[in-house]
Amino acid sequence: MTTLEGIVLSERTVGEQDKFIDVLTKEKGLIEIAVKGARKINGKSSSATQLFAYSKFCYDVRKEKLHLNSVEPIHIFYGLRNSLTALSLASYFADILRFSTASLTDSGNVLRLFLNTLHFLEKGLRSEAILKSIFELRLMAETGFMPDVVCCRDCGVFEPQELYFSFKDYGFRCAECNLSGDIDAYRLTVTELTAIRHIVLADFNRLFNFRVPENSLYRLASFSELYLLSQLERNFYTLDFYKSLNGK
Ligand SMILES: [Zn+2]
Repeated sequence: MTTLEGIVLSERTVGEQDKFIDVLTKEKGLIEIAVKGARKINGKSSSATQLFAYSKFCYDVRKEKLHLNSVEPIHIFYGLRNSLTALSLASYFADILRFSTASLTDSGNVLRLFLNTLHFLEKGLRSEAILKSIFELRLMAETGFMPDVVCCRDCGVFEPQELYFSFKDYGFRCAECNLSGDIDAYRLTVTELTAIRHIVLADFNRLFNFRVPENSLYRLASFSELYLLSQLERNFYTLDFYKSLNGK
């Protein structure tokens, strides 16, 4: 018997009574656990296996499949259900996680990022736009897709007032060096560059602790989404749904 803490990223009903849940754990990454008689169990065990439940799962392994034995809830994130946009954004995060952590074994940082983001989302402590940017960019950095934000690729300048991020080589060039360069590169200002550097490099305990001026937030948000979609080379239905709620 094995006991692991993790958060439920999705649930799929099987037959009349059973379901499978995808759980993101620190030690084993993403695991799938069969929950027998899921429709019959109620109360604490039922809420502990639902979407976005962070719980302590105790399971047996039979024929290479994991079967739930018992479960204890740690935190359920009930607050997410008070806002359709917050719930939809969390579903998008869960979708990206299922896709990008499938082969990840040490998921400690990714799990911590997700739990922290859900905490801020549930309590409404930061705007959805900034939480979405933080989650998208930091997740990419933690799963091996760190953007090169050190300095201009060509001349080495560290803080150009205006810069162009290229989705061809995932680095940036200052305005002068980009003059005859990549016409599809994404234009950013030094304010957005500073925010991006913070998101991908800051210690976890300082990660959510920064401000972006309103006029930079839109470009930061749009850059983060483009960066993630370009790295993962796919779209997410849950993202389209979230954007439709926001009239985009
Ligand atoms: Zn340059």
